[in-house]
Amino acid sequence: MFSDIISLELKKFKKIKRDLNRVSVSYEEINEKSLLKNLNSKLELERLALKSKEITDSFFGKTVLLYAPLYISNYCVNGCAYCGFSATNRIERDKLEDKEIEKEMIALKEKGFDTILILTGEDRIRSGVEYILKAIKIARKYFSEILIETYPLEQDEYKKLIDNGLCGVTLYQETYDKNLYFKLHKFGPKKNFEYRLNAIERAVKAGIKEVNIGPLLGLNKNFDFDVYMTLMHAKHIQNNYPEVEVSISYPRMRSSVSKIKTYPVTDIDFVKIICLSRLFLERVGINISTRENAYIRDNLIGIGITKMSAESKTTVGGYFQNSSDLKQFEIEDSRSLNEIIKIIEKKGYRPEFTNWVKI
Ligand code: SF4
Repeated sequence: MFSDIISLELKKFKKIKRDLNRVSVSYEEINEKSLLKNLNSKLELERLALKSKEITDSFFGKTVLLYAPLYISNYCVNGCAYCGFSATNRIERDKLEDKEIEKEMIALKEKGFDTILILTGEDRIRSGVEYILKAIKIARKYFSEILIETYPLEQDEYKKLIDNGLCGVTLYQETYDKNLYFKLHKFGPKKNFEYRLNAIERAVKAGIKEVNIGPLLGLNKNFDFDVYMTLMHAKHIQNNYPEVEVSISYPRMRSSVSKIKTYPVTDIDFVKIICLSRLFLERVGINISTRENAYIRDNLIGIGITKMSAESKTTVGGYFQNSSDLKQFEIEDSRSLNEIIKIIEKKGYRPEFTNWVKI
Protein backbone atom coordinates (compact mmCIF):
# COMPACT_ATOMS: atom_id res chain seq x y z
CA MET A 1 0.00 0.00 0.00
CA PHE A 2 1.18 3.54 -0.71
CA SER A 3 0.74 4.40 2.99
CA ASP A 4 3.60 1.94 3.73
CA ILE A 5 6.06 3.88 1.58
CA ILE A 6 4.86 7.46 1.90
CA SER A 7 7.34 8.22 4.71
CA LEU A 8 10.20 6.98 2.49
CA GLU A 9 8.97 9.18 -0.33
CA LEU A 10 8.82 12.08 2.10
CA LYS A 11 12.45 11.51 3.13
CA LYS A 12 13.47 11.31 -0.52
CA PHE A 13 11.62 14.53 -1.28
CA LYS A 14 13.33 16.38 1.60
CA LYS A 15 16.76 15.12 0.54
CA ILE A 16 16.30 16.19 -3.08
CA LYS A 17 15.02 19.61 -1.96
CA ARG A 18 18.11 20.08 0.24
CA ASP A 19 20.43 19.31 -2.66
CA LEU A 20 18.38 21.00 -5.35
CA ASN A 21 21.05 23.48 -6.41
CA ARG A 22 23.25 20.55 -7.43
CA VAL A 23 20.63 19.24 -9.85
CA SER A 24 20.32 20.67 -13.35
CA VAL A 25 17.19 21.47 -15.33
CA SER A 26 16.43 18.75 -17.86
CA TYR A 27 13.83 18.23 -20.57
CA GLU A 28 15.21 14.85 -21.57
CA GLU A 29 15.86 12.82 -18.48
CA ILE A 30 13.04 13.31 -16.04
CA ASN A 31 13.64 11.48 -12.82
CA GLU A 32 12.60 12.44 -9.27
CA LYS A 33 15.46 14.93 -8.99
CA SER A 34 15.01 16.72 -12.31
CA LEU A 35 11.24 16.69 -11.80
CA LEU A 36 11.62 18.68 -8.59
CA LYS A 37 14.31 20.91 -10.04
CA ASN A 38 12.12 21.72 -13.03
CA LEU A 39 9.08 22.34 -10.85
CA ASN A 40 11.13 24.94 -9.00
CA SER A 41 12.77 26.58 -12.04
CA LYS A 42 11.88 28.97 -14.80
CA LEU A 43 11.54 26.83 -17.90
CA GLU A 44 11.30 27.33 -21.63
CA LEU A 45 7.60 26.55 -21.69
CA GLU A 46 7.43 26.20 -25.47
CA ARG A 47 10.15 23.58 -25.56
CA LEU A 48 8.61 21.75 -22.64
CA ALA A 49 5.15 21.81 -24.26
CA LEU A 50 6.52 20.42 -27.56
CA LYS A 51 8.21 17.56 -25.76
CA SER A 52 5.05 16.85 -23.79
CA LYS A 53 2.96 16.90 -26.99
CA GLU A 54 5.32 14.48 -28.72
CA ILE A 55 5.05 11.97 -25.85
CA THR A 56 1.29 12.40 -25.46
CA ASP A 57 0.68 11.81 -29.18
CA SER A 58 2.88 8.74 -29.24
CA PHE A 59 1.20 7.11 -26.22
CA PHE A 60 -2.41 8.22 -26.68
CA GLY A 61 -2.72 9.05 -30.39
CA LYS A 62 -4.53 12.21 -31.38
CA THR A 63 -7.51 11.63 -29.14
CA VAL A 64 -9.23 13.32 -26.21
CA LEU A 65 -11.83 11.52 -24.09
CA LEU A 66 -14.89 13.57 -23.15
CA TYR A 67 -17.01 12.84 -20.09
CA ALA A 68 -19.70 14.47 -17.97
CA PRO A 69 -19.96 14.67 -14.18
CA LEU A 70 -23.34 14.05 -12.56
CA TYR A 71 -23.89 15.11 -8.94
CA ILE A 72 -26.63 12.91 -7.47
CA SER A 73 -26.30 14.09 -3.85
CA ASN A 74 -24.62 16.87 -1.89
CA TYR A 75 -25.11 15.51 1.63
CA CYS A 76 -21.79 15.44 3.43
CA VAL A 77 -20.71 14.63 6.97
CA ASN A 78 -17.17 15.97 6.65
CA GLY A 79 -15.75 19.30 7.68
CA CYS A 80 -13.39 20.24 4.85
CA ALA A 81 -12.41 23.84 5.47
CA TYR A 82 -12.24 24.63 1.75
CA CYS A 83 -15.53 23.17 0.46
CA GLY A 84 -19.03 24.64 0.10
CA PHE A 85 -20.58 21.21 0.77
CA SER A 86 -18.95 20.99 4.23
CA ALA A 87 -21.36 19.65 6.90
CA THR A 88 -21.29 22.88 8.91
CA ASN A 89 -22.41 24.99 5.94
CA ARG A 90 -26.14 25.64 6.18
CA ILE A 91 -27.01 24.99 2.58
CA GLU A 92 -29.85 23.38 0.75
CA ARG A 93 -29.09 19.65 0.64
CA ASP A 94 -30.48 17.47 -2.05
CA LYS A 95 -30.39 13.91 -3.23
CA LEU A 96 -31.88 12.58 -6.45
CA GLU A 97 -34.43 9.77 -6.48
CA ASP A 98 -34.10 6.95 -9.02
CA LYS A 99 -36.42 8.57 -11.55
CA GLU A 100 -34.59 11.88 -11.29
CA ILE A 101 -31.22 10.15 -11.74
CA GLU A 102 -32.56 8.49 -14.86
CA LYS A 103 -33.84 11.80 -16.28
CA GLU A 104 -30.45 13.41 -15.71
CA MET A 105 -28.72 10.50 -17.39
CA ILE A 106 -31.06 10.58 -20.38
CA ALA A 107 -30.37 14.32 -20.72
CA LEU A 108 -26.61 13.62 -20.77
CA LYS A 109 -26.97 10.72 -23.19
CA GLU A 110 -29.00 12.89 -25.55
CA LYS A 111 -26.21 15.44 -25.57
CA GLY A 112 -23.87 12.68 -26.83
CA PHE A 113 -21.96 11.58 -23.72
CA ASP A 114 -21.03 7.92 -23.29
CA THR A 115 -18.82 8.27 -20.18
CA ILE A 116 -20.31 9.47 -16.92
CA LEU A 117 -18.74 10.37 -13.58
CA ILE A 118 -21.29 9.93 -10.76
CA LEU A 119 -20.57 12.12 -7.72
CA THR A 120 -21.97 12.25 -4.22
CA GLY A 121 -20.89 14.20 -1.18
CA GLU A 122 -19.44 11.99 1.54
CA ASP A 123 -22.29 10.61 3.60
CA ARG A 124 -22.45 6.84 4.09
CA ILE A 125 -25.95 7.00 5.53
CA ARG A 126 -27.77 9.29 3.10
CA SER A 127 -25.78 8.20 0.04
CA GLY A 128 -25.05 4.62 1.04
CA VAL A 129 -23.41 1.99 -1.14
CA GLU A 130 -26.85 0.67 -2.17
CA TYR A 131 -27.78 4.16 -3.39
CA ILE A 132 -24.58 4.39 -5.46
CA LEU A 133 -25.20 0.87 -6.75
CA LYS A 134 -28.68 1.85 -7.92
CA ALA A 135 -27.25 4.86 -9.78
CA ILE A 136 -24.69 2.59 -11.47
CA LYS A 137 -27.40 0.15 -12.52
CA ILE A 138 -29.38 2.99 -14.09
CA ALA A 139 -26.23 4.38 -15.75
CA ARG A 140 -25.55 0.97 -17.29
CA LYS A 141 -28.62 1.35 -19.46
CA TYR A 142 -27.17 4.45 -21.10
CA PHE A 143 -23.39 4.64 -20.78
CA SER A 144 -20.43 2.48 -21.78
CA GLU A 145 -18.09 3.87 -19.14
CA ILE A 146 -19.23 4.51 -15.57
CA LEU A 147 -16.96 6.21 -13.06
CA ILE A 148 -17.63 7.32 -9.48
CA GLU A 149 -16.29 10.01 -7.18
CA THR A 150 -17.68 9.27 -3.72
CA TYR A 151 -16.33 8.62 -0.21
CA PRO A 152 -13.67 5.88 0.09
CA LEU A 153 -15.14 2.39 0.20
CA GLU A 154 -14.10 -1.03 1.48
CA GLN A 155 -12.70 -3.52 -1.01
CA ASP A 156 -15.83 -5.72 -0.99
CA GLU A 157 -18.01 -2.65 -1.55
CA TYR A 158 -15.94 -1.66 -4.59
CA LYS A 159 -16.23 -5.25 -5.80
CA LYS A 160 -20.01 -5.14 -5.60
CA LEU A 161 -20.09 -1.96 -7.67
CA ILE A 162 -17.59 -3.33 -10.19
CA ASP A 163 -19.67 -6.50 -10.60
CA ASN A 164 -22.55 -4.23 -11.55
CA GLY A 165 -20.79 -2.16 -14.17
CA LEU A 166 -18.44 0.28 -12.43
CA CYS A 167 -15.30 0.95 -14.55
CA GLY A 168 -13.38 3.61 -12.64
CA VAL A 169 -12.84 5.41 -9.34
CA THR A 170 -11.77 9.00 -8.81
CA LEU A 171 -10.55 9.93 -5.34
CA TYR A 172 -8.49 12.99 -4.51
CA GLN A 173 -6.16 12.99 -1.54
CA GLU A 174 -6.41 16.83 -1.59
CA THR A 175 -2.98 17.15 0.03
CA TYR A 176 -0.29 14.57 0.80
CA ASP A 177 1.02 16.74 3.64
CA LYS A 178 -0.36 14.90 6.66
CA ASN A 179 -0.16 17.86 9.07
CA LEU A 180 -1.90 20.18 6.66
CA TYR A 181 -4.45 17.44 5.93
CA PHE A 182 -5.40 17.26 9.61
CA LYS A 183 -5.75 21.03 9.81
CA LEU A 184 -7.98 21.24 6.75
CA HIS A 185 -10.22 18.31 7.58
CA LYS A 186 -11.80 19.42 10.81
CA PHE A 187 -14.04 16.43 11.50
CA GLY A 188 -15.71 13.46 9.91
CA PRO A 189 -14.42 10.16 8.49
CA LYS A 190 -12.29 12.04 5.95
CA LYS A 191 -9.92 12.91 8.79
CA ASN A 192 -8.51 9.40 8.39
CA PHE A 193 -5.57 10.20 6.05
CA GLU A 194 -4.41 6.59 5.54
CA TYR A 195 -7.88 5.18 4.93
CA ARG A 196 -8.35 7.67 2.11
CA LEU A 197 -4.84 7.18 0.77
CA ASN A 198 -5.29 3.41 0.45
CA ALA A 199 -8.80 3.51 -1.02
CA ILE A 200 -7.53 3.53 -4.59
CA GLU A 201 -5.59 0.34 -3.96
CA ARG A 202 -8.62 -1.28 -2.35
CA ALA A 203 -10.53 -0.48 -5.54
CA VAL A 204 -7.69 -1.89 -7.65
CA LYS A 205 -7.60 -5.08 -5.59
CA ALA A 206 -11.34 -5.36 -6.09
CA GLY A 207 -10.75 -5.34 -9.85
CA ILE A 208 -11.30 -1.74 -10.95
CA LYS A 209 -9.95 -0.89 -14.41
CA GLU A 210 -9.33 2.86 -14.12
CA VAL A 211 -8.32 5.13 -11.26
CA ASN A 212 -7.93 8.87 -11.10
CA ILE A 213 -6.04 10.60 -8.28
CA GLY A 214 -4.79 14.08 -7.52
CA PRO A 215 -4.24 16.92 -5.08
CA LEU A 216 -6.31 20.09 -4.79
CA LEU A 217 -3.80 22.68 -5.88
CA GLY A 218 -3.91 25.85 -3.84
CA LEU A 219 -4.25 24.17 -0.45
CA ASN A 220 -0.55 23.64 0.03
CA LYS A 221 1.81 26.61 -0.11
CA ASN A 222 4.39 24.20 -1.53
CA PHE A 223 2.60 22.88 -4.57
CA ASP A 224 5.74 21.03 -5.66
CA PHE A 225 5.27 18.66 -2.70
CA ASP A 226 1.74 17.65 -3.66
CA VAL A 227 2.62 17.32 -7.35
CA TYR A 228 5.66 15.19 -6.48
CA MET A 229 3.65 12.93 -4.13
CA THR A 230 0.77 12.57 -6.59
CA LEU A 231 3.25 11.40 -9.21
CA MET A 232 4.90 8.98 -6.79
CA HIS A 233 1.45 7.65 -5.88
CA ALA A 234 0.55 7.22 -9.58
CA LYS A 235 3.91 5.56 -10.27
CA HIS A 236 3.39 3.19 -7.35
CA ILE A 237 0.02 2.09 -8.77
CA GLN A 238 1.38 1.77 -12.32
CA ASN A 239 4.33 -0.33 -11.15
CA ASN A 240 2.38 -2.60 -8.85
CA TYR A 241 -0.81 -2.97 -10.87
CA PRO A 242 0.19 -2.63 -14.55
CA GLU A 243 -3.25 -3.77 -15.71
CA VAL A 244 -4.88 -0.60 -14.33
CA GLU A 245 -5.22 2.64 -16.26
CA VAL A 246 -3.99 5.45 -14.00
CA SER A 247 -4.95 9.10 -14.48
CA ILE A 248 -4.17 12.30 -12.64
CA SER A 249 -6.17 15.50 -12.22
CA TYR A 250 -4.83 18.79 -10.94
CA PRO A 251 -7.89 20.79 -9.88
CA ARG A 252 -6.99 24.34 -8.83
CA MET A 253 -8.75 26.07 -5.92
CA ARG A 254 -10.86 28.96 -7.12
CA SER A 255 -14.05 28.76 -5.11
CA SER A 256 -15.12 32.03 -3.59
CA VAL A 257 -16.92 30.07 -0.86
CA SER A 258 -13.59 29.02 0.61
CA LYS A 259 -13.00 30.71 3.93
CA ILE A 260 -9.39 29.66 4.22
CA LYS A 261 -6.19 31.15 2.92
CA THR A 262 -5.27 29.56 -0.40
CA TYR A 263 -2.11 29.62 -2.48
CA PRO A 264 -3.17 30.01 -6.11
CA VAL A 265 -1.07 28.18 -8.68
CA THR A 266 -0.38 30.44 -11.68
CA ASP A 267 -1.24 29.48 -15.25
CA ILE A 268 2.45 29.14 -16.05
CA ASP A 269 3.03 26.78 -13.14
CA PHE A 270 -0.11 24.86 -14.06
CA VAL A 271 1.12 24.26 -17.63
CA LYS A 272 4.52 23.31 -16.24
CA ILE A 273 2.90 20.78 -13.88
CA ILE A 274 0.91 19.16 -16.73
CA CYS A 275 3.93 18.93 -19.04
CA LEU A 276 6.33 17.65 -16.39
CA SER A 277 3.80 15.05 -15.28
CA ARG A 278 3.66 13.83 -18.86
CA LEU A 279 7.46 13.71 -19.13
CA PHE A 280 7.77 11.87 -15.81
CA LEU A 281 4.97 9.33 -16.39
CA GLU A 282 4.58 8.92 -20.12
CA ARG A 283 1.48 6.74 -20.08
CA VAL A 284 -0.49 8.37 -17.26
CA GLY A 285 -3.83 9.86 -18.29
CA ILE A 286 -4.22 13.56 -17.44
CA ASN A 287 -7.64 15.11 -16.87
CA ILE A 288 -8.72 18.70 -17.10
CA SER A 289 -12.09 19.82 -15.78
CA THR A 290 -14.31 22.81 -16.48
CA ARG A 291 -12.86 24.48 -13.37
CA GLU A 292 -10.30 25.72 -15.89
CA ASN A 293 -11.23 28.40 -18.39
CA ALA A 294 -11.69 27.84 -22.11
CA TYR A 295 -8.37 29.47 -23.02
CA ILE A 296 -6.29 27.17 -20.82
CA ARG A 297 -8.29 24.08 -21.79
CA ASP A 298 -8.06 24.74 -25.52
CA ASN A 299 -4.35 25.38 -25.37
CA LEU A 300 -3.66 22.23 -23.41
CA ILE A 301 -5.36 19.93 -25.93
CA GLY A 302 -2.59 17.70 -27.21
CA ILE A 303 -0.09 19.11 -24.70
CA GLY A 304 -0.41 16.40 -22.10
CA ILE A 305 -4.17 16.37 -21.53
CA THR A 306 -5.99 13.15 -22.45
CA LYS A 307 -9.43 13.60 -20.84
CA MET A 308 -11.77 16.58 -20.49
CA SER A 309 -15.09 17.07 -18.79
CA ALA A 310 -17.55 19.12 -20.79
CA GLU A 311 -20.77 21.05 -20.30
CA SER A 312 -20.51 20.30 -16.57
CA LYS A 313 -22.98 21.22 -13.89
CA THR A 314 -21.80 21.01 -10.30
CA THR A 315 -25.25 21.28 -8.75
CA VAL A 316 -27.34 18.26 -7.82
CA GLY A 317 -29.65 17.55 -10.74
CA GLY A 318 -28.23 20.29 -12.90
CA TYR A 319 -28.95 18.87 -16.36
CA PHE A 320 -32.62 18.01 -16.48
CA GLN A 321 -33.74 20.09 -13.52
CA ASN A 322 -32.15 22.64 -11.26
CA SER A 323 -32.92 21.33 -7.82
CA SER A 324 -30.21 23.18 -5.92
CA ASP A 325 -28.38 26.42 -6.53
CA LEU A 326 -25.31 25.51 -4.57
CA LYS A 327 -22.38 24.50 -6.72
CA GLN A 328 -19.43 22.59 -5.31
CA PHE A 329 -17.20 24.88 -7.35
CA GLU A 330 -17.59 27.48 -10.07
CA ILE A 331 -17.50 26.42 -13.70
CA GLU A 332 -15.08 28.48 -15.79
CA ASP A 333 -15.76 26.83 -19.13
CA SER A 334 -19.50 26.64 -19.75
CA ARG A 335 -19.36 25.88 -23.48
CA SER A 336 -21.53 23.12 -24.90
CA LEU A 337 -20.25 19.66 -25.76
CA ASN A 338 -20.60 20.47 -29.47
CA GLU A 339 -18.49 23.59 -29.14
CA ILE A 340 -15.76 21.61 -27.38
CA ILE A 341 -15.91 18.84 -29.99
CA LYS A 342 -15.35 21.46 -32.71
CA ILE A 343 -12.31 22.90 -30.91
CA ILE A 344 -10.78 19.43 -30.44
CA GLU A 345 -11.30 18.63 -34.13
CA LYS A 346 -9.93 22.00 -35.24
CA LYS A 347 -6.74 21.16 -33.39
CA GLY A 348 -6.42 17.91 -35.35
CA TYR A 349 -7.54 15.64 -32.52
CA ARG A 350 -10.40 13.16 -32.39
CA PRO A 351 -12.96 13.42 -29.59
CA GLU A 352 -13.64 10.04 -27.99
CA PHE A 353 -16.64 9.25 -25.86
CA THR A 354 -15.55 6.07 -24.14
CA ASN A 355 -12.62 3.76 -23.54
CA TRP A 356 -14.99 0.84 -23.19
CA VAL A 357 -17.59 -0.87 -25.29
CA LYS A 358 -20.86 -1.63 -23.54
CA ILE A 359 -21.86 -5.30 -23.76
S1 SF4 B 1 -14.62 18.14 -0.32
FE1 SF4 B 1 -15.96 16.35 -0.41
S2 SF4 B 1 -15.86 15.51 1.65
FE2 SF4 B 1 -15.12 17.59 1.82
S3 SF4 B 1 -16.94 18.80 2.38
FE3 SF4 B 1 -16.72 18.84 0.12
S4 SF4 B 1 -18.03 17.17 -0.58
FE4 SF4 B 1 -17.65 16.84 1.61
